[in-house]
Amino acid sequence: MPGIKLYDTTLRDGSQGEGISYSVMDKIQIAGELDMLGLSYIEGGWPGSNPKDMDFFLKMSKKRLKNSSLVAFGSTRRPGIKAGEDANIKGLLKSRVKAVTIFGKTWDLHVKDVLRTSLEENLEMIRDSVSFLVSKGIVVFYDAEHFFDAYKTNKEYSLKCLRAAEDAGASAIVLCDTNGGTLTSEVSRIVSAVRPLVKVSLGIHCHNDADLAVASSLAAVEAGADMVQGTINGYGERCGNADLIPIIANLKLKMGVDCISDEKLKELTHVSHFVSEISNMKQRPDQPYTGDSAFAHKAGVHINAVMKNTLSYEHIDPGFVGNRRRILVSELGGKTGVMLRAKDTGIDLTKDDPQTKKILKLLQAMESKGYHYEAAEASFELLLQKALKKYKKFFELEGFRVVVEKESDKNITSEAIIKVKVKGAKEHTAAEGDGPVNALDNALRKALKDFYPTLSKMHLSDFKVRVLNEKAGTAARVRVLIQSQDEDESWNTIGVSENIIEASWEALVDSVEYKLLKDHAGHR
Ligand SMILES: [Zn+2]
Repeated sequence: MPGIKLYDTTLRDGSQGEGISYSVMDKIQIAGELDMLGLSYIEGGWPGSNPKDMDFFLKMSKKRLKNSSLVAFGSTRRPGIKAGEDANIKGLLKSRVKAVTIFGKTWDLHVKDVLRTSLEENLEMIRDSVSFLVSKGIVVFYDAEHFFDAYKTNKEYSLKCLRAAEDAGASAIVLCDTNGGTLTSEVSRIVSAVRPLVKVSLGIHCHNDADLAVASSLAAVEAGADMVQGTINGYGERCGNADLIPIIANLKLKMGVDCISDEKLKELTHVSHFVSEISNMKQRPDQPYTGDSAFAHKAGVHINAVMKNTLSYEHIDPGFVGNRRRILVSELGGKTGVMLRAKDTGIDLTKDDPQTKKILKLLQAMESKGYHYEAAEASFELLLQKALKKYKKFFELEGFRVVVEKESDKNITSEAIIKVKVKGAKEHTAAEGDGPVNALDNALRKALKDFYPTLSKMHLSDFKVRVLNEKAGTAARVRVLIQSQDEDESWNTIGVSENIIEASWEALVDSVEYKLLKDHAGHR
């Protein structure tokens, strides 16, 4: 299957995902990553309906993409007017792109009930819109909205719509499972039936409402589709779009389709995390290929087997997609777990090494106090470095104070004051926050930011508190887990104390130290 084109719509369809809102700058950054990855097409937005998207296209028209073509999105013209008079089509021309995708109706139900026009006028809208844009020298892709539902209920009409677009000069016909409810077997059957009827490029655009979008996209490729549309991490309306991350990995590693280079495939984990970071969406740990847990081993039996032969519990080498193997450390994992984890951080320990025994004992002592390194490997790495006396301090705490104030009907406020020693200098800073932990976080970064500028690239993405021995009432110990992320990865740190602020501080400091450690040691 040569020449499969990857078409990303993170910036258009993906931005419809709940909780996602991109600024123009966000979009420019994501487009840069997609171009670096070497995707054929980047759909940037809908210039005719959104001024922010128009701004993006005008800014992008001054930049040069190395590998990708930028595509603008729009719809067929409105009923009863000429394409050249339609505001959204004029917007496409104004966006200065060389390629556009326009979507149109193919399902008679939509033509009659939603568009409320005649079936013949809808065909005319497709012909007129496509041929008008083609006459302006623009490459046009036609997104056949709801194609699979349309084909199942009125096959003849759905095919007339495709023919109208193709005859008018469209360069690709894209079959959309807009409602995302089509079974993979049906996608396969229908794409196979349509393939011989379309002479131009045939695309697939799946939504994930039945959790089948990736499978159906791959099935469509097997049935003859040569363009795959999707979004990074599967972001999109409702349950999202087809996730390009596993699609790329599967095409490349399982189906032998050379859609991006081996070198770029190694960037997949970075791009997945980068886009999650910019999208302000928590990275799914169980995301296939690029999630933090995708190659994490916990059971002792698995750890032992993976040490003998990684293929025993891994379907691919994690390095192919730029991810890494993780050995989850717990008391149960024993010396093997400690050794493997140490090896991960570049420290060679043997089973008989007295250091291995010392670390295992330390680990057991910490676990009995309520530390739980399985979920906090960044803290474990720091523990290891400190136990082996390899750790060089980035800063030293001299003290902190947190003030939480509530005045009758006013909002509650939190302020933290901290004193730290950094590179011989004494820093004394104060900062406010949404709560005491946020205030501490802000104060610590404020103190360190001039010494370690990369700290501005990380932020806390999750904060969990658990009470450990509930029977002790208010004197109970609490365990705080903090997840932090930057553009490349996320990591977890832990703190345990009878005081929630102290436990949080401990996890916070580990989080910052881990970031500094990995930035300064050419870590991993
Ligand atoms: Zn869509």
